[in-house]
Amino acid sequence: MRWDHLAENPAPARDAALFGADAVTTRTFDSPEFRGITFHEIRAKSIVNRVPGASRMPFEWTVNPYRGCTHACVYCFARKTHSYLDLDTGLDFDSQIVVKVNAPELLRRRLASPRWYGEHIAMGTNVDCYQRAEGRYRLMPGIIAALRDHANPFSILTKGTLILRDLDLLKQASEVTEVGISVSVGFTDPELWRTVEPGTPAPERRLDVVRTLTDHGIGCGVLMAPVLPFLSDHPDRLRATVRAIAASGATSVTPLVLHLRPGAREWFMAWLERNHPHLVRRYERLYAEGAYAPKWYQRRITGQVHELAQEYGMGPTRAGLPRRIPAPEPEAPGLPVPGLPAPGLAAPESTATATATQLTLL
Ligand code: SF4
Repeated sequence: MRWDHLAENPAPARDAALFGADAVTTRTFDSPEFRGITFHEIRAKSIVNRVPGASRMPFEWTVNPYRGCTHACVYCFARKTHSYLDLDTGLDFDSQIVVKVNAPELLRRRLASPRWYGEHIAMGTNVDCYQRAEGRYRLMPGIIAALRDHANPFSILTKGTLILRDLDLLKQASEVTEVGISVSVGFTDPELWRTVEPGTPAPERRLDVVRTLTDHGIGCGVLMAPVLPFLSDHPDRLRATVRAIAASGATSVTPLVLHLRPGAREWFMAWLERNHPHLVRRYERLYAEGAYAPKWYQRRITGQVHELAQEYGMGPTRAGLPRRIPAPEPEAPGLPVPGLPAPGLAAPESTATATATQLTLL
């Protein structure tokens, strides 16, 4: 593993030999929620990362207290980053979790530096900072407290309901600085969720997070990601998802179509082969040009979601203003079976611009 850029002491080899025994402490826990997961605790050299200038990310600075993610989303594009540690991008990504145990103290030190100018810090952009490990390591309270104490603006993107543990801190921070929270909910279909996002809280629970945050005056948007071609893109499914998002009180919804970069692509396609083999050829065709679905497809989905959002009262709104509409009716029967004529491949109907936001699809 290549840990030398993460740990204070360069680590030459895996486990004690690879990590350097004094740089990395490897732990496993017996409790059911951590079964099969190995934690590698390190003392990082730095915690505030600058996003490379060429990146399409809409932020410049990030903090990522973890590497790897037990939420185990099959499509996660952060998978590739595990290969930089000489870990594999499949099961290792889901179960070999690097924990930067000194993240809060490093951040506090950086924020106090005269060379830091109080710029926005984005979290949850690589892996989920409220994944299960956070329940044990509790790094986020120290991180949010540091940001609050320095009135430093920040944002968090998560699928984790654990964020509600830190509600009081988030409220305190939002009184002194800009705090942006987004929850990721790509679809509400329970069967799809169980297989493609096996380690995450259910979509309904994530929308409860949105509801709770907005009830406490913290505006919360939803990143509707990823929209999965032929699996969650039928108009009825899009409608059910947007309706549920609107009912949660979300301040905004931002759709993002699945993209398949190396690292995620192999893992996702293997999953597709096991679970929906009849879709393999269609995905190969749709992603024949590379990591992204064709522009016309992205525009079509974005246009549909924006139209639905407007229909459900989620037009342009000011961040921080919760919007509540009646709870959704039960999902309409007769939703398409994956593999039947593609609901998502009709000619493009909308000219709305696809979002350029490139996030990890939390
Ligand atoms: S998409 Fe987000 S929540 Fe899912 S595994 Fe990746 S980092 Fe974790």
